[in-house]
Parts: sequence; C-alpha cells; structure tokens
Amino acid sequence: RYAYVNGRYCHHGEATVHIEDRGYQLGDGVYEVVTILNGKMVDEAGHLDRLERSLSELRIDMPVKRDVIRMICREMVKRNGIDNGLVYMQVTRGVAPRNHAFPTKPVKPALVMTTKRMDFARMAKFTDGVEIITVPEQRWARRDIKTIGLLPNCLGKQAAVEAGAYEAWQVDDDGYVTEGTSSNAWILTKEKKLVTRQLNQDILHGITRKTVLELAVENGIEVEERAFTLQEAYEALEAYATSATSFVTPIVKIDDHVLGNGKPGSFGLKLLAAYQEYAGGKGAS
Ligand code: PLP
Repeated sequence: RYAYVNGRYCHHGEATVHIEDRGYQLGDGVYEVVTILNGKMVDEAGHLDRLERSLSELRIDMPVKRDVIRMICREMVKRNGIDNGLVYMQVTRGVAPRNHAFPTKPVKPALVMTTKRMDFARMAKFTDGVEIITVPEQRWARRDIKTIGLLPNCLGKQAAVEAGAYEAWQVDDDGYVTEGTSSNAWILTKEKKLVTRQLNQDILHGITRKTVLELAVENGIEVEERAFTLQEAYEALEAYATSATSFVTPIVKIDDHVLGNGKPGSFGLKLLAAYQEYAGGKGAS
C-alpha cells in the first residue's frame, strides 16, 4: 500500500513528515475526502474547488497545479487497487520553526495523500438507518474552511461512539442544528419539505449537500435552505446525514426521539438511490 508525500509514492508504513510541519504543530492545513466508486472519483471538481477555496482563505498556496493533484489521485487509486473507497488529501502550510505567525520566508506547502478501501455495497447504514445523538456546538467561527483542526469534531464523534450512535449533530446556543461532526444535517418536515442549513460560515459547504439539493429538486421534492431547531428535528418525518462517504444516510433516531416508525423513510431512500445512481454515473470521473 502506497502513500503520497511531497512528490513521492512511498510505502504507507514508511511515509513520514517533518516534526516541524505546521499541520502537525498548529493544525495549519486543510484536507479533502473524495469517494471512489468503481474506480472513479465522485464529484471531483467540487472537491478540488473547495480545496482551492479552503487554501485561499488561509493564504496557503496550492502545493502543485490542480491537474497534478488529479493525476496523483488517479495514480494512488491505481497503485492501491481501490475500486471502492476514498482518497484523503491534506495540504499544510509547510515546515518552519514553530511560531503562530506565518513563516517570513516562503515555504513550500506539504501535500500528502492516502487511500482507504470501503465496501459501500455492504453497509447496513444505508438499509437500516442510523441513530444519532446531539452535542453542544463548540467549534470556531469559520466552519466553512475544511481545516485539519478537528478536535471538537473528534470529541463529538467520540461521544456518539460511546453512546452507540453513528454521528453527533452539533447544536448552537440558540437551539439550532449546525451539522454533524463529519456530515451535513437534513430533516424532512411534517409538510414534506426537505430542510438543510443555509450556506455561510457556520457550516462546511458539503459537496454531497450540493448534489443532493439538486437531486431533490429533480425529483420534485420541495427544498428549503434554512436553520432548523433541534425540536423541529425531533418532530421531523425523516432525517439524514450527507457526506462523501455517507451518501444520504437515513437517520431513524435522534437522542431519545424515534422518527416515524423507526425505519428509513421513503424520501430518504429515494434520495439515496438518486445519489447512488448519480455517483456511479454522471457524477463520476
Ligand atoms: N460537515 C463536516 C463538518 C464535514 O467534516 C463533512 C465531511 O467530512 C461534511 C459536512 C460533508 O461534506 P462532503 O459532502 O463534502 O463530504
């Protein structure tokens, strides 16, 4: 199994970065996760657009040209024989003596890539749905940047694991759901409206979120981009988590509140099927 580190493909177990890499010391970097389905990348352009945006918000240069990143992704998929799974890519500001301020001498950003094999076809979450918990929102004010600084997300996900749940939805001080620790949050209201939070700096601009919004409209489902309260979620007909590797995962229980009959609902299953068709078809490259 190979990893890619700054221009070289090396054995995963021997891949190393410098101890003064600013990603390691300061969390000064960003990342992307792209799903691989049948050997192809899903929504590649969207992920690379977001990578460029995250980097520019932090004033980190692209480590190599976009086309080179695309080529390295494909080489990693090929070398590691990934039919289904993901490519993880991470860019940090680079190696410099530890200091909060940016290095005064320009440094080369560091690019690392790994892959992971995943058997999407056999995942019970898609057929049985999942249970989630909620936690207080504890992140910073720029959640639209896909930073590698993920401590609050890690604490939330760990709380979910310890509760036997799949994900934790983060709830802000006003009682509104922001998003999951690694997924966007959705509900289907009693009026059969699909609701997910609007895009601003409060949430990550999910690539899957964007695709699912388009698929919902194509399928004649009414959509509303707005914040919803936790109370509204408890009373929802259905709920879902979307992300590159969650696709549209049906949620059947939020905290102690069972949604519907406790099984994935028809709207969610329709959206999941539409997403799977898209991801294996015109969304793949
Ligand atoms: N929100 C957060 C906090 C995430 O970490 C992720 C993905 O990892 C998402 C949402 C979903 O984004 P995407 O659909 O681009 O994977």
